[in-house]
Amino acid sequence: MAATPTVPEVVLPSSTGQRKMPVMGLGTAPEATCKVTTKDAVLEAIKQGYRHFDAAAAYGVEKSVGEAIAEALKLGLISSRDELFVTSKLWVTDNHPELIVPALQKSLRTLQLENLDLILIHWPITTKPGEVKYPIEVSEIVEFDMKGVWTSLEECQKLGLTKAIGASNFSIKKLEKLLSFATIPPAVNQVEVNLGWQQEKLRAFCKEKGIVVTAFSPLRKGASRGANLVMDNDILKELADAHGKTIAQICLRWLYEQGLTFVVKSYDKERMNQNLQIFDWSLTEDDYKKISEIHQERLIKGPTKPLLDDLWDEE
Ligand code: NAP
Repeated sequence: MAATPTVPEVVLPSSTGQRKMPVMGLGTAPEATCKVTTKDAVLEAIKQGYRHFDAAAAYGVEKSVGEAIAEALKLGLISSRDELFVTSKLWVTDNHPELIVPALQKSLRTLQLENLDLILIHWPITTKPGEVKYPIEVSEIVEFDMKGVWTSLEECQKLGLTKAIGASNFSIKKLEKLLSFATIPPAVNQVEVNLGWQQEKLRAFCKEKGIVVTAFSPLRKGASRGANLVMDNDILKELADAHGKTIAQICLRWLYEQGLTFVVKSYDKERMNQNLQIFDWSLTEDDYKKISEIHQERLIKGPTKPLLDDLWDEE
């Protein structure tokens, strides 16, 4: 297996103590077909040099992520929890101002951590309080009090429950609204970005406002979920062959060269290592020309059934 590179970091400007986030994190969204447990995968990832983990209350993985961190400390793989950057996300059932602090405290108990590095609003949607259901039934949706929710998140950061607060799946329009009242601006907007959904406008907006973009589904869910726009793309195959790399590595290298952070999910030892090997080579101008020809289409259209018409504000 190739040697472990050091993953570069970015500073989150609105975080407590100017927290640094490794540009690459390990995703932990569950996959029914995956045979490796989250605890084993996170532990293996720590051994391989991953220091950033992307969890969510809705993924049901917080307990396992916490157990892996505790085990890594016990084994001496890390000397302090602070060597890790841990993100979690509040589910839509908790997007009520009075439920935010207790929801984050519950996540911390499940993770066995005193604080998070980053907490995100998973979706700009609120449903009645209750159990996690996926997909979300549209009949359960109530008004999303963005200002009230954000003020509670700011409280979480002030209380030291998290080093940074952020959004996920926010359009430019929703970020503009958020910025109009935020006293602590969002450190991050985590959204789908991959070679098949490059999101140039949203990325430019975030850059101008100092919001770090974290790309999710950077491989459009990888080859294991069947054919897809990037992992099955002839242009990318050619490009990968020319560099002696895999399509996944081309996808991740492109994100890195765009100045993005990204969370990629692999629970397979070899692919986990492969995904780390992207920091010491570059794409060429000719590669960029080819990449610009890839058909663009959003993969993750929304978490509700049926889909909401106005979720993305037509962006
Ligand atoms: P992804 O990371 O683009 O793809 C994951 C899939 O690709 C897995 O099936 C994985 O299988 C496979 N894979 C990984 N590396 C590979 C490689 N080098 N070659 C071939 N296949 C490879 O998709 P994702 O899980 O949807 O997104 C990543 C993370 O983003 C999630 O886990 C989650 O943490 C986050 N996310 C957030 C949101 C949100 O709403 N905020 C939405 C979606 C995802 P193996 O495990 O077998 O390698």
